Amino acid sequence: MTLLIDFHTHTNASDGELAPAVLIARAREAGIAALAITDHDTLAGYHAAQTADLSGIELVPGVEISCVWGGTTIHVVGLGFDPAAPAMVAILQRLTLARNERAVKISERLGARNIPGALEGAQAIAGDSQIGRPHFAQWMVAQGHVSSMNSAFDKYLGQGKIGDVKTFWPTLESAVTTIVESGGLAILAHPLKYKFTRMKLNALCQDFKALGGVALEVLNGRQTHDETARLKQLANQWALQASAGSDFHRDWQYGATLGVEAAIAGDMPAVWETLL
Ligand code: AMP
Ligand code: MN
Ligand code: MN
Ligand code: MN
Repeated sequence: MTLLIDFHTHTNASDGELAPAVLIARAREAGIAALAITDHDTLAGYHAAQTADLSGIELVPGVEISCVWGGTTIHVVGLGFDPAAPAMVAILQRLTLARNERAVKISERLGARNIPGALEGAQAIAGDSQIGRPHFAQWMVAQGHVSSMNSAFDKYLGQGKIGDVKTFWPTLESAVTTIVESGGLAILAHPLKYKFTRMKLNALCQDFKALGGVALEVLNGRQTHDETARLKQLANQWALQASAGSDFHRDWQYGATLGVEAAIAGDMPAVWETLL
């Protein structure tokens, strides 16, 4: 019997496409036994899912927190915390404010590049969702400013581009401490996506571990066997457990589908042993 889990997914409460109840129905169809909705800096999707049909699925409280370490934006996934913990509620309120302020600045910068009206456009697409760069990218595609989401990031929104507004995200320490204080497990999301040198990635793992982090994602979305092997080695080296998830945002030809086999961890300790 294979155990299917997914501890990294997004809904339309942040930059995913599916409503929480739809995501859960899809997870059930896929045969997933345990799921975490890990929207960017919000629990709105997790809360909304409480009114969905959760039969057959264990929904673990989750969030993907944006924070900064050494000048780079890092994502930390929190799992299994108390969703009502004051420290968690407070950091997510601050992050929502930071995202709204950043959206205004992104729009100003795009306006200076002859792309007016981006704030209103992105807000209309985001609706009640936690606003992020993907909403700007979607609006730019719809307006014909760019041909694809990818090219919106490549030209305007990605690392080092004009719309990459440096935001006052909380520190890595604050993100990890908040998750731990709220009774949850702190997991370093997609460690290879930061494009760090080996030395810098080791420094990040060392700090993360010292701050109270317990795991890293040995699998995030689509990746090669080599990448998985490298991440498992990194986790073992720093005595971090394994976590894994699809990082599902929407059905997309190049994206991962929902569900990860728990067997991916092999004989490593894994967060689902604690959570389930
Ligand atoms: P934000 O958290 O608002 O800064 O936006 C980051 C999000 O943008 C990530 O979580 C991804 O979902 C998405 N993203 C990053 N790079 C790209 C890209 N090249 N194409 C499409 N989406 C991207
Ligand atoms: Mn995202
Ligand atoms: Mn992420
Ligand atoms: Mn994610």
